[in-house]
Amino acid sequence: MSTHRFSTLAPLPLSKVKLEGGFWGARQELNRAVTLPIEYEQLKGTGRIDAFKLDWRPGQPNPPHQFWDSDVAKWIEAVGYSLATHPDPALERLADEVIALIVGAQQPDGYLNVHFTVVEPQNRWKNLRDMHELYCAGHLMEAAVAYYQGTGKRTLLDALCRYADHIATVFGPGEGQKRGYPGHPEIELALVKLYRATGVERYLRLAQFFVEERGRQPHYYDLEAAARGETEKPRWMLGGYSYNQSHLPIRQQTTAEGHAVRAMYLFSGATDVAAETGDAELLAVMEGLWRNVTLRRMYLTGGIGSGAAGERFTYDYDLPNDLAYAETCAAIGLVFWAQRLLHCTGDATYADIMERALYNGVLSGLSLDGRRFFYANPLEMNPAALAGRPDLFHPIVQAQRQEWFGCACCPPNIARLLASLGAYLYGQSEDALYVHLFTPGQAEFTLGGQAVILRQETDYPWGERVRLTVHPARPATFTLALRLPGWCRGARLTVAGTPQDVQPLLRRGYIHLARRWQPGDVVEWTLPMPIECVYAHPAVRADAGRVALQRGPLVYCLEEADNGPLLHDLALPREAELRATWEPELLGGVVTLSGRALRRDPAGWENALYRPNVHATRAVAIKAIPYYAWANRGAGEMLVWLREACP
Ligand SMILES: [Zn+2]
Repeated sequence: MSTHRFSTLAPLPLSKVKLEGGFWGARQELNRAVTLPIEYEQLKGTGRIDAFKLDWRPGQPNPPHQFWDSDVAKWIEAVGYSLATHPDPALERLADEVIALIVGAQQPDGYLNVHFTVVEPQNRWKNLRDMHELYCAGHLMEAAVAYYQGTGKRTLLDALCRYADHIATVFGPGEGQKRGYPGHPEIELALVKLYRATGVERYLRLAQFFVEERGRQPHYYDLEAAARGETEKPRWMLGGYSYNQSHLPIRQQTTAEGHAVRAMYLFSGATDVAAETGDAELLAVMEGLWRNVTLRRMYLTGGIGSGAAGERFTYDYDLPNDLAYAETCAAIGLVFWAQRLLHCTGDATYADIMERALYNGVLSGLSLDGRRFFYANPLEMNPAALAGRPDLFHPIVQAQRQEWFGCACCPPNIARLLASLGAYLYGQSEDALYVHLFTPGQAEFTLGGQAVILRQETDYPWGERVRLTVHPARPATFTLALRLPGWCRGARLTVAGTPQDVQPLLRRGYIHLARRWQPGDVVEWTLPMPIECVYAHPAVRADAGRVALQRGPLVYCLEEADNGPLLHDLALPREAELRATWEPELLGGVVTLSGRALRRDPAGWENALYRPNVHATRAVAIKAIPYYAWANRGAGEMLVWLREACP
């Protein structure tokens, strides 16, 4: 086993990382001030919060759904993260009230699930395949840990420890225990968080059990289905057990299959287990699955799970743009997994994908005003097709973001990610601080025996320069490791006023600056951001003959609002000159890309559907905006992959 596998980077505690304005700081503040309050109203208005009062009775409308606990839990988790850096007494009071309701719903044996307490109490733990009992438990555990770490309050943490203890008596390899595991993974990563927060090893062992037991024969889901008297698998479970990644034991899996969110949560939990137990073989399995996802099954935006039927991975290079499902939660799950592999390996490849997903496929899930959400994130939109071919499109693929969903996983998921973004910016090892992402703010850590404050100033991703100022309490020797983004060529570096040669300092995608830091030392990191024309692998049918525009970490798209309809008829000449322009008034302030492309002349087509030898084109101005900002100016066409004009 190579020693670099477990470089054991750890994120800085959230309370030690402050985002101050800039691209992400502004979004985190919007999340706190707008998104979290409106999500509370939705959770309250739809009955999800009051369901914890357990006063629903058979025959009444709006029975508590099996996912509901998780929606509320993710909101509390987000509030916990937010309170770690930003005191907000009103928000905290709301969360405390919700927590009191949740804890009040706990049963004497520790069990805690609204649906199975009031709707079908006779069916506890009888259908792990389809129902979301262990999934909801996992989300409540994540909420408990986040709220404890953000506020110091233990009420929810203690309740969830009792629930975890109960689950550990029901499930496991012992005699009389169930050898089952969740149909929707999530509790695995949550149990590792609970273990890290409490030091109780039983929780880590249970996470390991759930990861390892999955997919073994005789198949648990066959056994429990037989016990329920069922003979057929449900129709929605497309692809059989690969739908929920239980088609094989995890160590035998080499391709990412099935429901993409489930896959991401499972792989995140399995990576956590590998990290905590030093399991190099399991980590190697995860790295193989990662390569399958990111080299064959991922959109340019970091979106994954291209198939709407089953919200799932399909097959290698199957990345249709208009039919893309690419659930917001799946891109969020990819960020979770990327961060874990990054912290196990110290390899910037993972940070590159984490950044790609964050700036594109995750952020597109949220409107600029913080009030509306996409569930699916296609790379091409034609509202006429959506309306005219409802048979082709999943109903949740929409041209406009929505205020809420019946299955409301995405809105609180994006809220908890934005609230916890500070945990994704840095990683600390014994002797180094790694800077993964660039955004203005401040981090506090201890290295070289000194408390150190690191300040970042930058207008990334619009501008190319990142200025880092290092403030150790006294001069201190340690390494500052700066990520060189995979998309960047020709980076320039100055340390304390002296230009440095970048290449000799580069290891696994990070520039390693080992020195004795003096208070006030400044590092200038310049990351040139030319406009790039990007092409897809020749096997990606949907992108053949097409080109996408990218600048820095941002993927761009064309919208009807700027370019008129029939975006598919535009063709970009290979030698087209494109320029980047900062437009402070547009879409909250964005850098747009503009230039000229070719369109066919509409003349002569009035009375024809087909005509021979029509090659005349005219040059037209085009303007591209960052993909994340699409659909903020009404419904219209959108296109990421443009045709390339024949040279
Ligand atoms: Zn979702």
